[in-house]
Amino acid sequence: MDNNVQDIVSVLSEKLSAVAHVDILNSNEATKKFGNTTFSEPVKLDAAVTITHKSQIPVLLKCANELLFDIHPVSSGRNWGYGSICESLSDRLQILLDLSALKAITPTDKDLGLITLEPGVTQQELYDYLYDNGWDYMVPVTGAGPNCSIVSNALERGYGITPYTDHFAAVTSLKGYVPHPDLCETEYCSYVAVLDKTDKQLADKSFKWGLGPYLDGLFTQSNFGIVSELTVRLAKKRQGFTSFYLQSFRKDNFHDLVDATKDVLQSFEGIVGSINLMDKRRIATMVSENPNGSGNQKVMSDEQLDAVAKQHRIPEWTMVGSIYGEPAIVKSAKTLIKKKLKGKGSLLFSDSFLIKLGKLVTSLLPVGPLKTFQHQLKSLDEGIEIMQGKPNRVALPIAYWENATITPDKASELNPARDNCGLLWYAPLLPMHAASMHKFVSMVRDITPKYHIEPLITFTNLRHDCVDSTVPILFNLQNPDAVTRAKACLNELVESGVKKGFVPYRLNTRQQQELLSNECVAAKSYALIKQSVDPNNILLPNRY
Ligand SMILES: Cc1cc2nc3c(=O)[nH]c(=O)nc-3n(C[C@H](O)[C@H](O)[C@H](O)COP(=O)(O)OP(=O)(O)OC[C@H]3O[C@@H](n4cnc5c(N)ncnc54)[C@H](O)[C@@H]3O)c2cc1C
Repeated sequence: MDNNVQDIVSVLSEKLSAVAHVDILNSNEATKKFGNTTFSEPVKLDAAVTITHKSQIPVLLKCANELLFDIHPVSSGRNWGYGSICESLSDRLQILLDLSALKAITPTDKDLGLITLEPGVTQQELYDYLYDNGWDYMVPVTGAGPNCSIVSNALERGYGITPYTDHFAAVTSLKGYVPHPDLCETEYCSYVAVLDKTDKQLADKSFKWGLGPYLDGLFTQSNFGIVSELTVRLAKKRQGFTSFYLQSFRKDNFHDLVDATKDVLQSFEGIVGSINLMDKRRIATMVSENPNGSGNQKVMSDEQLDAVAKQHRIPEWTMVGSIYGEPAIVKSAKTLIKKKLKGKGSLLFSDSFLIKLGKLVTSLLPVGPLKTFQHQLKSLDEGIEIMQGKPNRVALPIAYWENATITPDKASELNPARDNCGLLWYAPLLPMHAASMHKFVSMVRDITPKYHIEPLITFTNLRHDCVDSTVPILFNLQNPDAVTRAKACLNELVESGVKKGFVPYRLNTRQQQELLSNECVAAKSYALIKQSVDPNNILLPNRY
């Protein structure tokens, strides 16, 4: 450590440990533990501070304002494909603030399904808490798996496929610290919380919008404050549940599938969660190994894809959705959905006799082709767990598609950044019109192979009128050419996409610095707000 770092670390150590236990890592340790991303060289950090009580946050902010260093807060630091920390453009010391040890779970109101979480609470920890304490509610899970924080995912405005898809929409109340030297010592909360004199503050914790200007949203996808807790409205587990899978082996009925998806979502709002539509290649990367060998950065030929598809019986398009409700409602919805999806492909429900029979047979005879079928049924079960709010690692292996050294094992912890996986996301919003979505499919299929990247398409419906497509850009992080190509591929996707109205809902840390113009009124307004709440620019200076 050079002197300046050493001086600052000694001050932090003294002041923070006077409040509660603190662990401080030096530059090498901090960079090794927190600096990895899935798309760049590790981001260099000067130190990392793991605090154990939220009252240490104002102490750190005060020190940063006095000593002028940059703070990068992370909750679980697993923003894979987007980057948890920004590369700094400043010459100040870069201190990572690790909030993962703040693990308080407060049962705000079990009866109402309202729970308050500190930043370090992971999906698995919330799941265990709900299970151990008899809460009949679902965890707002994502594909990022059990070890990811609930708070930071909501702050990134991430989403999942349980009934409350939009994770920040389900946040009813937020507390945090604003970096301004005159404000940082007291925890921010909404007017309603200030006025409410009761212990539980249910008015604040059950009503998202507060009173007066809505400020809580300023803490999301931003650098205006450090969030110390969120209250989340959990979705109740329903007695009835089934998932449906529509497999379409035709190449010419994409329009029909999109129209049917929209129809089902509109007709069964509140009963059917979101619906995913995935193409053949996307499913192939989930169920098979890379036929070209990982790390070689070769796109599967049509023949290779057809061979994988034949072996695993993968259709052109797979539609997956879930029905939640009272058993009688689920039963009726099943019948009506069957009618709506008639003729669109082969339809299967997860509670069907065929699936139950399949599980019995393959468990008794797990040999030959039945082994493949057993594997598929297991993946099916894991997908269903996610839809029912139980976290697992089913989605994570995809990040290892071009990783030549590690074969992912879902039974142990998977961490794509630590394991040097190459991953970027292209995550644009699209209107729910078949013609636009078709144009989008063609665009992705034209662009990505030019850069030796598989065109993998998933559509997730945020509502009946808005779709998000998450296209994973998978590459060999160890090969500099592959990294350059992956970034160029993402750039071309974004540039071509915006001309057609496909605009990302979330950006990686590098794009945040390069893509967003400083000239528009929105950017100028952000800059003015940033200047007012953080005059010394100490918090995540380069974010968005
Ligand atoms: C295979 C795979 C599947 C995925 N599936 C999904 C998915 O289904 N849905 C989805 O949304 N994402 C998904 N992701 C992307 C990502 O991994 C998750 O969104 C993950 O939850 C984000 O990382 P994190 O929660 O550890 O956030 P962190 O890295 O801890 O935080 C992200 C950013 O938020 C800010 N932040 C964090 N905590 C605070 C705080 N307390 N106060 C202020 N700012 C804060 C920081 O600026 C930080 O840079 C997936 C990734 C992979 C590899």
